[in-house]
Amino acid sequence: MSGNLADIGLIGLAVMGQNLILNMNDKGFTVCAFNRTTSKVDHFLQNEAKGTKVIGAYSVEELCAKLKKPRRIILLVKAGSAVDDFIKALIPHLEQGDIIIDGGNSHFPDSIRRAKELEAKGLLFVGSGVSGGEEGARYGPSLMPGGSPAAWPHIQEIFQKTAAQVNGEPCCDWVGENGSGHYVKMVHNGIEYGDMQLIAEAYDILKRGLGLEESEIADIFARWNKGVLDSFLIEITANILKFNDDDGQPIVTKILDQAGQKGTGKWTAQAALDAGMPVTLIGEAVFARCLSAIKNERTRASKVLAGPQKEPFRGDKQQFIDDLEQALYASKIISYTQGFILFRQAAKEYGWNLNYAGIARMWRGGCIIKSVFLGDITNAYTKNHDLESLLFDDFFLKAIHKAQPGWRRVCAQATLWGVPIPAFSSALSFFDGYRSEVVPANLLQAQRDYFGAHTFRVLPGKENERLVANEDI
Ligand code: NAP
Repeated sequence: MSGNLADIGLIGLAVMGQNLILNMNDKGFTVCAFNRTTSKVDHFLQNEAKGTKVIGAYSVEELCAKLKKPRRIILLVKAGSAVDDFIKALIPHLEQGDIIIDGGNSHFPDSIRRAKELEAKGLLFVGSGVSGGEEGARYGPSLMPGGSPAAWPHIQEIFQKTAAQVNGEPCCDWVGENGSGHYVKMVHNGIEYGDMQLIAEAYDILKRGLGLEESEIADIFARWNKGVLDSFLIEITANILKFNDDDGQPIVTKILDQAGQKGTGKWTAQAALDAGMPVTLIGEAVFARCLSAIKNERTRASKVLAGPQKEPFRGDKQQFIDDLEQALYASKIISYTQGFILFRQAAKEYGWNLNYAGIARMWRGGCIIKSVFLGDITNAYTKNHDLESLLFDDFFLKAIHKAQPGWRRVCAQATLWGVPIPAFSSALSFFDGYRSEVVPANLLQAQRDYFGAHTFRVLPGKENERLVANEDI
């Protein structure tokens, strides 16, 4: 550090900002802290940051004066107008080449706009996904920075040292241009919705279908966590299912079955619809939360809408549990395949050079979806950056073929039981559609032409037959 200047400034002393400052301090960087309510600066310096190298500022002007150049300033404030307000307040105190980094959960179109506006003024912008919640921020988050490429050499060391490390590699790499960092964080959250929904469906099948107790299901998840499904979410699910209330009842059986959502899953589904890409599993995961939310209506429906007669399961239970593991794995492969298909389309649409292998590497640690599986995705894109689909990679091709019979048996059995499996079944339908050279869109086109004169294209090789017939439907 030169003089008493700080390596980086951070605005926003709520839980994420405080923890990220302490983390950066631990990694040897001097951070200057600022917050709109300045009493929080004093409180932080006198308490959580006591005895550290962290310094404080009481105005944006003072903050900018206390930073090494080019200045690096992270915003960790409430997404929305607070980010624009701080950018506006900072601009008069910044010089060419200074860098504003938005680490909040901003929507990517805002980051595209902010990058353009700041670059037009000679400043640099980075929109960085920060994942892993409070714990991640404090001890090593997954960081997904994208924006003005010229900013990366100036923030790389701080970001990569602050991020989580897996096998000596940082869970942080440059994502791509302007809003791509926040886009990748948005899809990360969408994938998180999908992974959680798949796990919830597996629990439902084991409980309502096979009739197992929470403690037995916990053991199954704990075992799965040692195989291909090894991941943070499977691990915590085993722990949650084992956790009993004071009366000895599993706590999960006392929790109201209405899921909340903050909106990033919905953003992903909306982005997929806008891009025209079939990201069906995340869409179903969002809708499953919506269905859970109409509890009163479901309760009324449960009294009048009958399902199939419940038959006791007569098959091999252990075989079925193994099938379920494969069904979960295959559906997860589909979900990530869909996520990366969306990335490819976004890269085309927005002109981003997305770092696909890097994205999977960033997600291997420090975030909610961290898993061993992400290492296999990293390998697939390291071998071939231009991979059209994960399903064309040898590893995933073999994996999905191996999982397929069990996956089908699980979907069939759950359907016979009347246990809802929107994520499992939409994944299987995507797989069947994706591997079909011919889908019934010919009939759709004929219908569209019939009622709306939308016309249709004729199959190659059939042009002559069509000319002979030469009649519109
Ligand atoms: P938060 O509750 O989202 O935001 C609180 C911070 O924003 C405070 O510093 C507050 O300042 C400031 N702020 C709010 N409105 C403002 C305004 N109009 N003008 C200026 N400052 C304003 O804090 P957080 O939970 O630490 O999250 C920070 C960001 O990280 C958010 O974008 C959040 O979505 C994202 N994030 C959070 C998590 C998490 O687990 N919490 C995980 C990943 C990402 P005052 O103290 O003056 O009110």
